[in-house]
Amino acid sequence: MLDTTIAGSLPKPAWLATPEKLWAPWKLQGEELEQGKRDAALLWIKEQEDAGIDICGDGEQFRVHFVHGFLEHIDGIDWERKTTMGIRDNRYVVEVPTVTAAVARRGPVHADEVRFTRAHTRHRLKFTLPGPMTICDTIADAHYGRRADMAMAFATMLNEEARELEALGVDVIQFDEPAFNVFLDDVKSWGIDALHRATQGLRCKTAVHICYGYGIEANIEWKKTLGDEWRQYEETFPALNASRIDQVSVECADSHVPLALLRLLGDKEIMVGSINVATDRVETPEKVRDTIKAALAHVDAERLYPCTNCGMAPLPRAAAAAKLRALGGGAALVRAELGARRGV
Ligand code: ZN
Repeated sequence: MLDTTIAGSLPKPAWLATPEKLWAPWKLQGEELEQGKRDAALLWIKEQEDAGIDICGDGEQFRVHFVHGFLEHIDGIDWERKTTMGIRDNRYVVEVPTVTAAVARRGPVHADEVRFTRAHTRHRLKFTLPGPMTICDTIADAHYGRRADMAMAFATMLNEEARELEALGVDVIQFDEPAFNVFLDDVKSWGIDALHRATQGLRCKTAVHICYGYGIEANIEWKKTLGDEWRQYEETFPALNASRIDQVSVECADSHVPLALLRLLGDKEIMVGSINVATDRVETPEKVRDTIKAALAHVDAERLYPCTNCGMAPLPRAAAAAKLRALGGGAALVRAELGARRGV
């Protein structure tokens, strides 16, 4: 009960990539780089296990960024043809590559990473993939014409990939959809359909992560514009609750999300974000305990998985490791309290 897990990314060690940076460039090359990625994954498996994280991940040590790590292996994308695009509804303007032909997967993308990670932990294993809507909001379209059509094409490839990863022993496959908190109508009209296509035929647990973004400046500024109550989830949770996705990962710690909205996911397992990733300040286990208990007012303990709010890639490594220990410690405190109460 109250099994802990992480949303996805963890910082790269300073010898592998520039620290405290998104899109951090690698510091190694060739076989040294490949060995370095494996060493970094091992390091984080050990840190997660020692921190009491029940469902572990590779910390995304093998990829520069959660979207491009997948797209680099896809045909139909012209990486030279850059399009300037305001992504996440113009929250950041960036140059993105352009889809110029029907997209196709060249072959397995993350299989070797999963084989390696699976071989090195006996804990349950979660693997994260970018969601179809978020991919389409991170790449320009000069081929499909309709974003929903392009999303379905990516969902088909994500499904091929997910089925292979499931066969290699992944217990939870999570699709990261920060765009689900931005394009609320699209979620209902085609976003969930695309997720259903991506998860079709999977027997492992399927999950979707919907957050307010990494703890970077552009997001911190955006959050200031969202008012005292963040009610984006209210729009999409009823449709998600009616979907075939097993788990929903949400941002809670230090956010303005009214936790009563979690009641709209009454049929789902919920990964409750109990660690703030927008600050280096490390939570005490007691603070994590209090966040979990606040969520427990609305979610049965059997359906609640304490988690981080989002990926921790841009954080200092020591802070991320300490936050993992706070998460494990906070969940243990709540388990002990519930156990004690049950014993009475
Ligand atoms: Zn996130």
